[in-house]
Amino acid sequence: MRLVSLGSGSKGNATLVESNNACLLVDCGLSVRELKRRMGEVNRQPEDLSGILLTHEHSDHRRGVLAVARKYSVSVYMTAGTAAAMKGELSETEAIEIVRGDNTLPIEDIGVTPVAVPHDAREPVQYLFASRGVTLGVLTDLGSITPHVLASYGRCDGLLLEANHDSAMLAEGPYPASLKRRIAGDWGHLSNGQTAALLEALDCSRLQGIVIGHISETNNAQARVEAQLDPYVAGIPAVHYASQEQVTDWLTLE
Ligand SMILES: [Zn+2]
Ligand SMILES: [Zn+2]
Repeated sequence: MRLVSLGSGSKGNATLVESNNACLLVDCGLSVRELKRRMGEVNRQPEDLSGILLTHEHSDHRRGVLAVARKYSVSVYMTAGTAAAMKGELSETEAIEIVRGDNTLPIEDIGVTPVAVPHDAREPVQYLFASRGVTLGVLTDLGSITPHVLASYGRCDGLLLEANHDSAMLAEGPYPASLKRRIAGDWGHLSNGQTAALLEALDCSRLQGIVIGHISETNNAQARVEAQLDPYVAGIPAVHYASQEQVTDWLTLE
């Protein structure tokens, strides 16, 4: 399996996860045109998609999802809570498949498992992908580290993981107090320190590669992320940093 981040951050998230037979898009916070352009950078096109997995209804994840689904006739997978939150936008035109936490569904040769996470959306999940003995995890948009998250992500060969904010930069930054509380709260996003604690708690010995993502452009800086995470990622063969505007290199797992 392999993974590439097409864009990551509060202005739009989109990730491709591929096996030999399937090409899955996790979230689409990009417009149709921008998705097409960024997929083109890695020699893919929207017509290649086997499915779209939506994590939750926040606009930085959902913005282009339904338009892409309609234009290219791709099924969208989401929880019942996410579908309820998007009720006003859904029509007969899109093929919506409802997923449930911990219930693995096969899409081509990939077993896809949604994992419930604490985040301030209706029924947010993140995803695990398993194919031919390799497990890949996508884990962004969570406010705290639950035992369920630790148990679910403990055996990954590759991981896309959020390091959203630096706690001091968030506290001193320009956001209103209510938004600061939301982001730092148990239903918001992981700080660099929480991401470090998560990496320390997980068994990272199997990890062939990691992509650090959903890094805030306002409340974080890559140098701060690196300073906090270096002790935990130093032993991982491939370490990539995803950004809002740049497509990353492929993370390929054997
Ligand atoms: Zn969110
Ligand atoms: Zn987000």
